Amino acid sequence: AWKHLCPSPAGVLGFECDGPEPHSETLLARRQQHFARPQKNYYLKPPQIERGWKDHLFDIEGRSYLDMVNNVTILGHGHPRLAAAVGRQWSLLNTNSRFHYASVAELSTRLAALAPDGLDTVFLVNSGSEANDLALRLAWAYSGARNIVSLLEAYHGWTVASDAVSTSIADNPQALETRPAWVHPVTAPNTYRGEFRGADTTDSYVRSVVKKLTELDAADEKLAGFICEPVYGNAGGIPLPKGYLDAVYAMVRARGGVCIADEVQVGYGRLGDYFWGFEEQGVVPDIITVAKGMGNGHPLGAVITRREIADALEKEGYFFSSSGGSPVSSVVGQVVLDILTEERLPENAQVVGGYLKARLEALGQHFPLIGAVHGMGLYLGVEFVRDRETLSPATEETAAICDRLLDLGVIMQPTGDHLNVLKIKPPLCLSCESADFFADMLGRVLEEGW
Ligand code: PLP
Repeated sequence: AWKHLCPSPAGVLGFECDGPEPHSETLLARRQQHFARPQKNYYLKPPQIERGWKDHLFDIEGRSYLDMVNNVTILGHGHPRLAAAVGRQWSLLNTNSRFHYASVAELSTRLAALAPDGLDTVFLVNSGSEANDLALRLAWAYSGARNIVSLLEAYHGWTVASDAVSTSIADNPQALETRPAWVHPVTAPNTYRGEFRGADTTDSYVRSVVKKLTELDAADEKLAGFICEPVYGNAGGIPLPKGYLDAVYAMVRARGGVCIADEVQVGYGRLGDYFWGFEEQGVVPDIITVAKGMGNGHPLGAVITRREIADALEKEGYFFSSSGGSPVSSVVGQVVLDILTEERLPENAQVVGGYLKARLEALGQHFPLIGAVHGMGLYLGVEFVRDRETLSPATEETAAICDRLLDLGVIMQPTGDHLNVLKIKPPLCLSCESADFFADMLGRVLEEGW
């Protein structure tokens, strides 16, 4: 068996392999043949990445790339302190989360302390999808109802329940036809494009939610809850209109539903001054879901809620995750929080993100293809349009820009429902030099072609 394992990419198994590493082309062919499903919207010929350091990645030929899309490795790549802590914990113990050990208690306590008062009960899981599935189960158990209102053009994960509330047309084109009857999508409050463009009052933006809730009331259908990202992530980090969540949360709670904030992508320091996205809206949710950066790439996620909501699930359901909150995961979670705090990475996100946003907006003055620069902290979106009046999405141009950026040493990916947005979500240790490099390279590409 070891002989078969050995020819996998050198170094991954931590011991010498016989023979040279397979050439990238060979591995790519193997990947296409045996890896279940290559990611959509990604390079046809991705570079074969071998290692990473801070905000950079390096391929097998030694080429370096600025990693502008990571969104998971928030501390940066190759953090020696995290590697040492993981190695130490592996050599001490990793096992089923069923046992009692110190790190799970400590991580849960720290997460509860990070959450608003009253949200003091933590479930540990392995991913954002699991966290959202669990949040939906909690909403069902607590409310005794089934109906969930979610936003169109949202992504909450791939597991059965989180996929059902992911009505992003780009990520999940079948979702609109096949979604279960308990999912009630409403138009997202996109302030830049679509039905609400130009609206200036909260009332206009909540109109779609009011309509949906009125329909449910009329049909005597009880509400279980509402789920959304507190910053409109899929569209490139567009802040929700002022007062939006306050108004929606009040309507949901008046009907006995719970409010779920999906912080998987935008939370945990990425937004700079706001550790959680819901702080930007000045609201407190009933359930917070978190993953991605929380484990810096290690599979780790959490649901943070009130005890009474957690207890509702205990009464009528069962929650157990073999590896969610394992000894290694819990140590990873704690060391990530230590480093995030000690290296003041949210502050770096605020400062460098602000600097980068200003540079991108300056590019927007020169290049009409840039329709808008969205976002805050190190969650930014550059939206490309063919016409600033009609906002016709520049989808092909965005793909070509990403390909050219790769040639120039920047990893970037088109996102959003029209695949016309560069979603900028680098490690939070992004340096000002790297921000400059990105803005310079984007300027160069735009100068060349558009
Ligand atoms: N929620 C949001 C907002 C996400 O962006 C994602 C992943 O992209 C998820 C949930 C799902 O997380 P995971 O991929 O860890 O299952």
